[in-house]
Amino acid sequence: MSEQERIEVTHKCPAEGESFTPCCGRNPFELPRTDRMTIDDKLVTCRRRNAGQDCPRCGSECCRDEVDVGVGVMIGPWGCACGWSEDSRYDLSDGKSPVRDGGVIDSRGGWTRLPSG
Ligand SMILES: [Zn+2]
Ligand SMILES: [Zn+2]
Repeated sequence: MSEQERIEVTHKCPAEGESFTPCCGRNPFELPRTDRMTIDDKLVTCRRRNAGQDCPRCGSECCRDEVDVGVGVMIGPWGCACGWSEDSRYDLSDGKSPVRDGGVIDSRGGWTRLPSG
């Protein structure tokens, strides 16, 4: 195993006045000691950033929810403000109804219960 084969992650330095990395939203002090920081976008290899997704419908940058559930982080599907979702079950494009099982879904895999009555 050579030097190059070691997996290193390079994160984007937080912008001035910010305390979290723009690539993965973490405090630099929480990152593994082996990880690197850069101010050069082209050198950023943080996977959360590389996994970024542009909406195939409107071309906007999509977002997704990351929820820390204690034993790990649950990551929802990519979703766009236009209604497109990576997960076809949550796809709200083409005017599909978001109402499901007494609640409303969003394109990022969320479900919110509607107030009953
Ligand atoms: Zn990062
Ligand atoms: Zn879109």
